[in-house]
Amino acid sequence: MNIQYLTPTKILMGKNCVAANAAVFAGMGKKALIVTGRRSAKASGALQDVTGVLDANGQTYAVYDRVMSNPTIACVYDGAAFARDEGCDFVVGIGGGSPMDAAKAMALLSRQDIPEEKLYDGGYTSDVLPMVFIPTTAGTGSEVTQYSILTNDKIQSKASISSPLLFPAVAILDAKYTEKLSYATTVNTAIDALSHAVEGMLSVRANPLADCIAAESIRRIFACIDALIQKNITTGVREELLFASTLAGLVIANTGTTAVHAMGYSLTYFKDIDHGRANGLLLGGFLKLVEKSFPEKIAEILRHTSKSTVDEFCGVLKALLGDVEALALAETARFTEIACKAKNISNCIFIPSKEEIEALYNASFGL
Ligand code: NAP
Ligand code: FE
Repeated sequence: MNIQYLTPTKILMGKNCVAANAAVFAGMGKKALIVTGRRSAKASGALQDVTGVLDANGQTYAVYDRVMSNPTIACVYDGAAFARDEGCDFVVGIGGGSPMDAAKAMALLSRQDIPEEKLYDGGYTSDVLPMVFIPTTAGTGSEVTQYSILTNDKIQSKASISSPLLFPAVAILDAKYTEKLSYATTVNTAIDALSHAVEGMLSVRANPLADCIAAESIRRIFACIDALIQKNITTGVREELLFASTLAGLVIANTGTTAVHAMGYSLTYFKDIDHGRANGLLLGGFLKLVEKSFPEKIAEILRHTSKSTVDEFCGVLKALLGDVEALALAETARFTEIACKAKNISNCIFIPSKEEIEALYNASFGL
């Protein structure tokens, strides 16, 4: 049995978990860079809980609240300069994957002078600000991964800075912060988490330990599927989805993602389709493709769902995602060229050919 597995992030979960762990913040530094999106950190109450704890601890902070969805490279350099000007010595990321991913790059860039053209090259020193992350969506698992995924206009796509130095020190999970998520974001982020767990099991780096965690994540998400379809999303369901998304984050931190994510990036970059929805629109078709070569692997994944065939699995995704966006053949041809160059295409036990990628795009959008 071969296992490689790393999780350096301390995970704390529970109701009022931020306030209950004031000592964790006290040990991080003197002045926090708090990284958020425009509204949700405040609207969810997470920002007030964090600043309350920092005030009580006698720690100071500066808030950078300009992170947009699918953060840009310009945004993370801007935040890093702000952190330097403010003299921050640790980072608190609050929000969905976008603020959390941006916060990781800011923690790196505020300590190291890395020109933009070398940003993705690795070779960073260990001088990175320590990070505490508080997710307010239940999807990306960024609170436990070493990836900072940024929109990169040079390649007209999204690309990941990946380094063990980017693991947050602490992840604090409190489902109360996800209560005000819209229905669409709740569904899209749940599908992102499902996609992470499923892709993790199809990765060339899958291993028995990561598979156990992926299976548990899939089981817990599927236990919430009826509630999601019926729009009956209780506090208990939100807690399950948050836990499942962190589990799936633990998986991809060790396995990486595959063609679904590689192909989804163009849907987000060019068509502004939410990250999780983009994955969900492609996931069912990809499973059908992989099933032709690895039927036993797909059967294993399906065993953790409440469905027995890929078609039934696709039915669940259809019920959650509704009608697909309109795409033209010229667009899918262009997206195919870009997806073929993504690193995660070759991270799967089944490597799709260029023709298969294009056919998958076309089938997913009824072309
Ligand atoms: P997001 O882009 O962080 O947030 C989407 C929207 O939801 C924003 O409008 C945000 O508002 C809002 N929102 C967040 N929390 C909310 C809450 N509690 N209540 C109401 N609204 C809330 O979406 P995401 O799906 O979580 O993250 C997507 C990003 O993560 C993508 O860039 C993707 O590539 C990346 N990702 C990273 C990893 C990784 O391992 N690092 C894995 C998968 C995906 P505000 O702007 O006001 O906050
Ligand atoms: Fe994702």
